[in-house]
Order: sequence, then C-alpha cells, then structure tokens
Amino acid sequence: MSDRVTIVAVTAPTPAVFLDRDGTLIEEAGYLDDIARLALFPSTVDALRMLARAQYRLVVLTNQSGIALGLFDEPFVRQTHEALAVRLDAAGARIDGWYFCPHHPAGQVPALTRVCTCRKPAPALAQQAAVDLDIDLARSWMVGDRWGDVGVAATAGMAGGILVRTGYGRSAEARPMAGVTAAFVADDIMDAASWILRQGR
Ligand SMILES: [Mg+2]
Ligand SMILES: [Zn+2]
Repeated sequence: MSDRVTIVAVTAPTPAVFLDRDGTLIEEAGYLDDIARLALFPSTVDALRMLARAQYRLVVLTNQSGIALGLFDEPFVRQTHEALAVRLDAAGARIDGWYFCPHHPAGQVPALTRVCTCRKPAPALAQQAAVDLDIDLARSWMVGDRWGDVGVAATAGMAGGILVRTGYGRSAEARPMAGVTAAFVADDIMDAASWILRQGR
C-alpha cells in the first residue's frame, strides 16, 4: 500500500453569465457611434462584481450591425469595449470577453452583408467564447433586452435566458415571441444577477 497522495489539478469548465451590451450593460443609445455617449446603468458595476464573486465568467455578446450598415467600423467597436473595460476596472468590475457580430442580412458593406452564424439568436459568439474561456454552456445564462438575446440561451444550449426590462425590454415583454421563453423577466441587470445567484450552480 502506498501512502503517497496524488494531487491532481482539475480545471473544470466554468459557468458564465453572457450579457448583451446595449440596453443591458449600458443605456440603449440607438446605434451607439460616440464613446462620449457610453453610460453604464447604475447597478451594472455591482451586478458584475456579485457574479464574479460567485465565480461566473462574464462575457458580452453584442450584435453590432451598425458596422455592416456602414455607421461605424470594427475599430470603433473595439475602442468602445476598451473604454468600457477601463471604466469597469476603475470600479473594481470586469468583463472576461467581448464578442460582437458585425454582420447584417441587409447591410451596406458588401463583405458584411449576409446571413451569418453569429448574429444573436444564432449561437456562434457564445460557442466561440465557450472554447476561448473554458465555459460550461449548460450551466450558463444569457441576459438581454431583446428576444434575440433570450433566444441565444436555447440555440447555444444554456440553462436559460433572462429578459431585462431596461433598453428595449419593456416593449419586448409586451410583445412575446413565439418559440422563445424567458426563464425570468428582470427589472434590470442587478435583478437578473440576483435571480441567477438564487438558482445556485
Ligand atoms: Mg440590447
Ligand atoms: Zn455575424
């Protein structure tokens, strides 16, 4: 008999909370084309800190069809995410990954004008994040203000999708979409985070 103890380092895939950007993390500003108009919701920082403390990875998935429409370009979207990351960092919060879809089926920029696999509710952004960040999709949640956000939960095989009443959420709530069901309808990102934590892992 050996009394040696073998310690095996196990890195298990981690659950994530996927977050829509506009209308969920920050104020909805139409097609946001000016970094000066970036405004986090009052409870965004606290909600992100709470989820991070509970060991959730935090990933932004955002449809930025304004790129395909020629309203702004990919570098602008990356700069926007860098500016948001700086603000969050200063407040002690963080996002682990930023993923965006630049496409639109009826765009103006030919190379980006098509039906793609990454525009929410399609699952490619979430799937890519799961590979990059070792995420367990089945234990993850999606939070957003449109049915296209909530729908990602189903297409990517997540635990569920949560509709927030910020941004376009109130009008979405008033117009249910056939085939898409929210696990919960939350007042805002903090209400969504609190609900997720009450579900346990
Ligand atoms: Mg939104
Ligand atoms: Zn796309």
